[in-house]
Amino acid sequence: MAMNDDFNFAELCRLCSLKSNHQLQIFDKEGEQRQLLFKIRSCIPAVITKEDALPKNICQRCVYKLDMFYEFRVSCMTTDTVLKNYADSLKHLAASVNQVLARATWFTTGSKCLTNGGDSALNKGGLKVWRKAHVGISQW
Ligand SMILES: [Zn+2]
Repeated sequence: MAMNDDFNFAELCRLCSLKSNHQLQIFDKEGEQRQLLFKIRSCIPAVITKEDALPKNICQRCVYKLDMFYEFRVSCMTTDTVLKNYADSLKHLAASVNQVLARATWFTTGSKCLTNGGDSALNKGGLKVWRKAHVGISQW
């Protein structure tokens, strides 16, 4: 098989297979500083190691796309966390409101018992709940 003199397999971009004059090495100092391997592993289900027999370069266009994709991925993950925390906060707030409403209902029921039935143990309990609910409501 005749090989073109210009063709050098090791000089192809690992991500798009094109040859270009401006490439970054995945495993050299700049590649490590720019976290190329980490970003590739985060975004692409391809296994790239120092020892494999494939090219270890990435062209500028692919580095740009990789940076954008990684940024987008991080942004999506951050949004996911923020929205989940927000949903949790709403759930806790709703639970607190329900607790206060439940105590207020107890207060209403308890006060009816108070007017009807003297000093039974149930009425004393109702009064205790009313005091707790009153404190809870006045903290709002
Ligand atoms: Zn490329």
